[in-house]
Amino acid sequence: MIVVMLGAPGAGKGTQGDLLAQRCGYRKISTGDALRSQVKQGTTMGREAQGYMDQGHLVPDEVLLRILEAELGMKGDEVVLLDGYPRNIAQAKALEAMEGPHKVVGVIHLDVDREALLARISGRRICPSCGASYHMSHSPPRVADTCDRCQARGLAQRPDDTPERVAVRLQVYDEATRPVIDFYRAKGMYGRLDGNRTPEQIFADLKSTVASWVQ
Ligand code: AMP
Repeated sequence: MIVVMLGAPGAGKGTQGDLLAQRCGYRKISTGDALRSQVKQGTTMGREAQGYMDQGHLVPDEVLLRILEAELGMKGDEVVLLDGYPRNIAQAKALEAMEGPHKVVGVIHLDVDREALLARISGRRICPSCGASYHMSHSPPRVADTCDRCQARGLAQRPDDTPERVAVRLQVYDEATRPVIDFYRAKGMYGRLDGNRTPEQIFADLKSTVASWVQ
């Protein structure tokens, strides 16, 4: 069973997906993380994707489909949270047409005001080793500049979190990803959550919504 998490860059899909994975035992697949891992390993796919990612553009659909098929695998008796896929209508249709045991059972839209998105993204820092995410004011690491999870030092801004790249990513979201909300709304699979609240407040609603879909 697949639960799709939709939302603009900085909406908290990754944070909420991690909480659901840790506390409810679901499996989270982040296509952004999977792509960054390919880039880090220097694979052909990573080299193909990097230019698009650094500019804030979408990586071609056929690359994403290969990533998704590899990550999903054939095990169907689990709940999978998709963070970052689909990001356009073609991807939503590809997911629908995908062979295998995985079917979308619900779609969460984390809806966050533009001003709050910008504040979240500008303060975001990422561990260069394990990818854990922090916010300089809202959720800083326990020891300055050091990852709580793996103790690596040198928390850094993502290359695509600069103001210029964020402007491009928000435009891509408005043009390509917003229509995906209507695609799922028309199928009656859509649930909107107010993502302007604290992570724990959002999580409480999210947990019960997802539980009602996967029981
Ligand atoms: P994220 O970590 O989800 O913000 O994704 C980072 C970047 O990876 C995006 O800006 C895109 O360049 C790329 N990416 C992630 N998911 C997708 C997708 N479903 N389709 C196309 N590009 C993607």
